[in-house]
Amino acid sequence: MLRIYNSRTRKKEVFKPREGKKVRMFVCGITPYDFAHIGNFKVFLNYDLLARYLAHRGYKVFYLQNVTDVDDKIVNAAKAHNKNWKEIADHYFNDFLAVCDALHITSVTTYAKATEHIRDIISQISRLVEKGYAYEQNGSVYFEVNKFKNYGKLSGQNPAKLHTSVRLAPDANKKHPYDFVLWKAREGIDEKYEPSWDSPWGLGRPGWHIEDTAISEHYFGPQYDIHGGAVELKFPHHEAEIAQAESASGKKPFVKYWVHAGILMLGKEKMSKSFGNVITGKQMLAARGQDAFRFLVAATHYRSPIPYSEKLLAQARTNLSRIREFARNLEKVTTKKGIEFSVAPYAKKFYAKMDDDLNAPAAFAAIFILMRAAHKLMAKEKLSVDSAHAILSFLEIIASVIGVPLREKESVIPDRVLTLANKREKARTEKNWVKADALRAEIEKEGYGIKDLADGFEIILKR
Ligand SMILES: [Zn+2]
Repeated sequence: MLRIYNSRTRKKEVFKPREGKKVRMFVCGITPYDFAHIGNFKVFLNYDLLARYLAHRGYKVFYLQNVTDVDDKIVNAAKAHNKNWKEIADHYFNDFLAVCDALHITSVTTYAKATEHIRDIISQISRLVEKGYAYEQNGSVYFEVNKFKNYGKLSGQNPAKLHTSVRLAPDANKKHPYDFVLWKAREGIDEKYEPSWDSPWGLGRPGWHIEDTAISEHYFGPQYDIHGGAVELKFPHHEAEIAQAESASGKKPFVKYWVHAGILMLGKEKMSKSFGNVITGKQMLAARGQDAFRFLVAATHYRSPIPYSEKLLAQARTNLSRIREFARNLEKVTTKKGIEFSVAPYAKKFYAKMDDDLNAPAAFAAIFILMRAAHKLMAKEKLSVDSAHAILSFLEIIASVIGVPLREKESVIPDRVLTLANKREKARTEKNWVKADALRAEIEKEGYGIKDLADGFEIILKR
């Protein structure tokens, strides 16, 4: 029986969808205004694993992810690059999809763009205004937080103290500082940079929070099973979603299970564009790190933060190589009259741990114990060929659930070459060209070449 930690009730609960084996899951998607970084992908890998595991356990999953393709950040990026807002949004969204593809993120049923759901958004805002939960002021519409008594419940905030505990952008239109915008009046910036749509309140564009609930209502109706997102989105974003959805529909709970993922840290800080400490998905692909990264994320509990480092990635790469090598050795087993080895107790442990709020670290431990036990028999040529095949089939299943291919398709760049390439990249950013050239020579001595890209580098095999 699958149990899952529900942030809404703050406890692990037996997972029971609203309707039989159907699971409707929504996850907060990206704002495509720049290259997505590995901190973003960590979260999407967590929900891809959840969706894959649910499907593996016989659920029929509809996984919906929104795309915030209208936002201040996109307007600013369009202005900075002197490009059309849509060109910016499409470019970075396509880059995001390419990285998802390389990471084997395959479980999303529908990516829904905010700009393709403007009618749904206007309809939901209109209902909130009619019911008295929202008010219009100078062409913008705001949600009145005081009208929704459960505001702050998910994140454990006291609404009365919100205005002192949270920094809020000053806005003379708001009745209360913590009211949030549902519809933003057009600011009169060039249409090329800032799109706008006609609405009962004049030309404008949607606020951030409303797109999620309008999109999820469009596909799922007023209530559904799972809502995911990084833990940092709990407040104010997810609080706002609950307030909007429950006020508009009069039904609660809006979402049965709130599932929050831990963030990726670099040093003592979270990886974030605002801190300027990002490794983009593209850079990770250039270093051929996708399978190791996916394995690292899968083997860490989804609610835990990941203290990312090259060392940690190298460890994951080593562990993954061990599993792959073990699989290759299993294929070579020919012992006809060997000892029978049962996968069942290890499989039982694996599923028991995964069923316990996706406790992947403990589930993976069961796999490594299986490997040690089977390896002992193999070393003495005592493992029967039938058992070897049974273990291999089990590993194939596990690999498809965690989304890391058991047989590697790409050549793996050795760690020492990666380390040299990263050192060279650092020397380059410090404009230390002498050191960078010396490091390039060392990389070439190892039989590899390096190609500089606009936002990173690519390692090429020269031999
Ligand atoms: Zn969201």
